[in-house]
Amino acid sequence: MTIPLSLVNVTLEYPDGGSTIKALDAVNLTAGAGEFLSLVGPSGSGKSSLLAVAATLVTPSSGLVLVDGQDATPLGSRERTALRRDTVGIIFQQPNLLPSLTAVEQLLIGEHLRGKPLRAARLRAAELLDVVGLAGELNKRPHQLSGGQRQRVNIARALMGSPRVLLVDEPTAALDMERSEAIVRLLRRVTDEFATATLMVTHDTEFLPLTDSVVTMRDGRLGAPVRNAA
Ligand code: ADP
Ligand code: MG
Repeated sequence: MTIPLSLVNVTLEYPDGGSTIKALDAVNLTAGAGEFLSLVGPSGSGKSSLLAVAATLVTPSSGLVLVDGQDATPLGSRERTALRRDTVGIIFQQPNLLPSLTAVEQLLIGEHLRGKPLRAARLRAAELLDVVGLAGELNKRPHQLSGGQRQRVNIARALMGSPRVLLVDEPTAALDMERSEAIVRLLRRVTDEFATATLMVTHDTEFLPLTDSVVTMRDGRLGAPVRNAA
C-alpha cells in the first residue's frame, strides 16, 4: 500500500510587494492510513496553504506533494483534478452545499463527475449518510438541516470517492461546543473506519486528544508531530 500523503521539503512563496512571502518554508509531513493529525498555529502561519498544497489545489514553488504515492507537482491541471477526485476528500468550514439539492443529491454530483453508475452511487450515498447519523434526513435540503447536520452532509460527501486523504479546515468554526465535539468524534470514527489519512486544522484545543498527533505551524514552518497518549 502506498502512503496516502507525503509532503517533501515543500516551499510556497507568494509575491508580496517587491519581495516574496514564504507561506510554507521547507515543510515535511507524512500521514499514514488511519492516522488523524491536528494542525494548529496562529492565524497567517500557513495552515490553509498547507491544506491547499496537499489538496493539489495549489502547486508549491518547490518540493514534492505525494498523494497516494504520486507526485502531483509536475502534473497539468486536468491530471491534478483527476488525482484529487480519486484520492482526496476536502472538508472546509462552510459546507458549501447547493441550496436546491437534497442531502442524497449533494453526494451524487461528484459520483456523476467520476462517471460512476447512478444506482450504485445512490446506495453508497445512503450508506454514508447513515454512517454520519443522517439516515432520517436523506431527502432534506440544506435549509431544512441544522448547521451540524449540514457539516455531516459535507463529511459524507467528502467520503463518496473513497478518498485516501481527508483534508479538513476548521470544521467546527460555525458550531457550538457540543456539536463541535460530535463532529470531531465523527472525523475520528471515519478515519478509523475508512483508514483515511486525516489532516485537520483546528483552534479547538480541547479536542486535540481525539487525534493521534498534533503538528504546529509558525511562520510557514512545521514543528515535529507530538503524539498524543494512546
Ligand atoms: P492560516 O491558514 O494559518 O491563517 P494562510 O495559509 O492562509 O495561514 O496564510 C499564510 C500566509 O500566506 C499569510 O501571510 C497570508 O497572508 C499569505 N497568503 C495566503 N494566501 C495567499 C495568496 N493567495 N496570495 C498571497 N498571499 C497569500
Ligand atoms: Mg486558514
